[in-house]
Amino acid sequence: MTIQVFFAARGSLRSGEVLVTRARAFEAAHAYRDASFGRATRVHGHNYQLTATIGGRIDPATDFLVDFRDLDALLKDVTTPLDHHRLDREYAPLAGREPSAEALAGALFAELAPRVQRAIPAARLRAVRLNETDALWADTNGGAEVELTRSFGFSAAHRLSDPKRSEEDNRRIYGKCANPEPHGHDYRIEVTVRGRPDERTGIVTDLGGLDRAVDAAVISRFDHRYLNVEVEPFTTVIPTAERIAERIWELLAPNVRGLARIVVYETPRSAFSYEGPEAS
Ligand SMILES: [Zn+2]
Ligand SMILES: [Zn+2]
Repeated sequence: MTIQVFFAARGSLRSGEVLVTRARAFEAAHAYRDASFGRATRVHGHNYQLTATIGGRIDPATDFLVDFRDLDALLKDVTTPLDHHRLDREYAPLAGREPSAEALAGALFAELAPRVQRAIPAARLRAVRLNETDALWADTNGGAEVELTRSFGFSAAHRLSDPKRSEEDNRRIYGKCANPEPHGHDYRIEVTVRGRPDERTGIVTDLGGLDRAVDAAVISRFDHRYLNVEVEPFTTVIPTAERIAERIWELLAPNVRGLARIVVYETPRSAFSYEGPEAS
């Protein structure tokens, strides 16, 4: 689970606001109608999680934004019709639509926003994240575009050392990451695609296609490799997590429409993100 939960609130943030995020889990079944969804046309289920972020100013009387139990009550209200139900048959806001994470995130934002306004007048709903699994989630701030994020993993070795510098300098800059033999990480990467959900399919990107693109361009290149020796451009570029994020962007951008962000976790406690070069 990501430690960078507030991306989706960006763009809807007001200055001086604090954001408060709460989450609630529910379990539900669904099946897609369109044959392009493959095995997902069979009825199956997920452990979903709805995460909601509200924003507003701190109340000087309580030093809270609001009592977050009020938000918890709303999360319970909107997830009760979903919990232990079948989304594509029993949940009216998805009637006639494919029950994608993107569609469900949008529907839950629409359900939740007016409830927040009524029950918690001091706050506004700023963002909703809907996790279908730990490795797939949709983010919306109520706008026309939704972000879909898929996470992947690879294991690789690297060392951080610049051959143009002295060993002393490398040691000073990169510390133990400059040890002569490599060390390694179980990297996690998050690939985020942004767009308007397709009218017919309710999705912003074909997940099978995204998985194939990431596998072909990234995982097959990086997994179980010594980056400095086996993976271009790291024979000449130092494979910091920042450079790895930038490289993954370069590899995916030509093949993934709507690519919005790459996050690289070198460990579960360190995240590095890149959103591409400035548009010229
Ligand atoms: Zn599913
Ligand atoms: Zn390292």
